[in-house]
Amino acid sequence: MKLKLMFVSMLVAASMLFVGCSQQDDSVNVNSSQKELSVAPTQKYVPGQLIVKFKDGQTLKSKTDVMQAFGGAVVQKIYGSKLKGTDNGSVYLYSIKTSVESAISKLKQMPDVEYAEPNYIYTTQVTSNDPYFTNRSLWGMYGDASTPANQYGCQAAEAWALNHTGSSTVYVGIIDEGYMYNHADLAANAGTNPGEIPNNGIDDDNNGYIDDVYGWNFDGNNNSVFDSAGDTHGTHVAGTIGGVGGNNIGVAGVCWNVKMISGKFLGTNGGTLANAILAIDYFVDLKTRHNLNLVALNNSWGGGGFSQALKDAIDRASAAGILFIAAAGNGGSDQIGDNNDRYPSYPSNYTSSNIIAVASITSSGARSSFSNYGATSVDIGAPGSSIYSCLPSSSGGSTYGTMSGTSMATPHVTGAAALYASTHPGATMTQIKNAILNSAVATTSLRGKCVTGGRLNVSGF
Ligand code: CA
Repeated sequence: MKLKLMFVSMLVAASMLFVGCSQQDDSVNVNSSQKELSVAPTQKYVPGQLIVKFKDGQTLKSKTDVMQAFGGAVVQKIYGSKLKGTDNGSVYLYSIKTSVESAISKLKQMPDVEYAEPNYIYTTQVTSNDPYFTNRSLWGMYGDASTPANQYGCQAAEAWALNHTGSSTVYVGIIDEGYMYNHADLAANAGTNPGEIPNNGIDDDNNGYIDDVYGWNFDGNNNSVFDSAGDTHGTHVAGTIGGVGGNNIGVAGVCWNVKMISGKFLGTNGGTLANAILAIDYFVDLKTRHNLNLVALNNSWGGGGFSQALKDAIDRASAAGILFIAAAGNGGSDQIGDNNDRYPSYPSNYTSSNIIAVASITSSGARSSFSNYGATSVDIGAPGSSIYSCLPSSSGGSTYGTMSGTSMATPHVTGAAALYASTHPGATMTQIKNAILNSAVATTSLRGKCVTGGRLNVSGF
């Protein structure tokens, strides 16, 4: 009963917070630096905050002078060098005392401003048409020749039969809520920051975060990446990527062995653009400075309009060789799937080369009713309806349950990326992405609805 109540409250929160794309103005599809931004009513953002990047050559003082007209004060530098006197390229989060939309339209006319954007609020891409449904099957992992079988599963069970079960040398980042890293079916696959000595109160690796062992909580600005049974969505995602397999309990993820690190930025009220950027750069730093074999970031969230700041961060992950696997979205407020080619859903619609945009299918091969699609803007389908995975229980123990959404399809693809990386050491980001897209099995419900016209198939990974 407690589990049911938790689902209900979570779904109510999700439906209130989810930022839809079905009604938004087409103008948000245009690079906002080239066209005056109009924020659609369904796109939520933090009142009284702006994200601003100035063109190179502006001093901190000149930036302050510009922002003073809006009562602006720096909340946080969200991207840029820590060295004094090197402020080119920096991105700041400001608090302002005027309206966000009027400040943005004025700032855009200033020649020294590269861009000014709302601090958008993102939410999970989970949904469910039946919160009381508890289907104890892992159909999403099955293959057509596995036992049990389902041709519409991602075929992971066939890869496992070849002893392809992942590797503890492969890391993925989960940008989401936190996840229950001490869950009985996840603890063995909990990744840690190799540069950080636990609980010594020191930022050992000088990345700006103290004791960030299992990742970082950008929402709470602390190292507690699993706080409570509220981290259901992130825990469910983690179980699909890397639930420990072959241990005689619970579920198995696409990868039985993998290391997962948490970039928690979604809290009870969603997550901000500023914190999404900080989370992405956190993982870029882990890969580039610590030489972590981090192959992919799982992004089961969305909302907001086009953001140059977010695209720039995704491009930095691309330059670091990190895939950005993103949910196609759940059809906006009515939860009936939309065409992302026409009504872009972010972040999956960005054109960065590291993005794989994921639609959801059901256990009978239909496109899930909630799943967005797009012949050019969505890449592939994966199991996302009635997915069984790990959950935290309200009493602090490990439990399991069923959730649905493009949120649930996305971690099947992230798990696929990690699985391919484990069997193809040294594979580049582009090679992993191509392997995933080339694996797609032609599927009637996805024909003309995504780039591959098919569904994920990891049987050969
Ligand atoms: Ca640190």
